[in-house]
Amino acid sequence: MVVNTPNFGIPKRLWKELVIYSQIDNKSVWAELNKNQLNLLSTQLTSSIFKVNGKSTFKEEFVTAGGIDLKEINFKTFESKIHNNLFFAGEILNIDAITGGYNFQNAWTGGYVASKSISGIV
Ligand SMILES: Cc1cc2nc3c(=O)[nH]c(=O)nc-3n(C[C@H](O)[C@H](O)[C@H](O)COP(=O)(O)OP(=O)(O)OC[C@H]3O[C@@H](n4cnc5c(N)ncnc54)[C@H](O)[C@@H]3O)c2cc1C
Repeated sequence: MVVNTPNFGIPKRLWKELVIYSQIDNKSVWAELNKNQLNLLSTQLTSSIFKVNGKSTFKEEFVTAGGIDLKEINFKTFESKIHNNLFFAGEILNIDAITGGYNFQNAWTGGYVASKSISGIV
């Protein structure tokens, strides 16, 4: 069923909402979708606009889950393994530590190592 098969790594709860907004019944299977439904789903996936109403439950708001795949980073330099001379640090990486300063530590340490690498010290 469409509703149970999220694509592109989209979280299940978000996928379900996008499917509902695309006027796809929650019992529909992929093979039954008509062109209009597929177009609506494509539109939801590519040009949805969301209004932020507030923050989430206390203690859920501390760090963004997801980001650049850690396999793509050389952690000795924080340089991308895919693009030379491109460095990443902090929240943009797929690191979500428990709260208590670990996310700051991640951002600061990564920034420190990346800046040393960029300046040619390492
Ligand atoms: C409410 C809250 C509480 C938190 N509490 C804790 C905690 O107690 N302990 C902990 O360890 N972590 C905590 N965190 C997480 C921590 O704040 C982040 O992990 C950390 O700040 C990430 O640092 P960063 O430099 O990677 O990103 P950010 O701090 O987000 O810095 C990114 C910067 O880039 C700028 N920017 C964005 N787009 C552009 C652009 N196009 N051009 C130029 N500049 C741009 C932004 O304005 C921002 O200044 C908390 C986060 C939140 C939201």
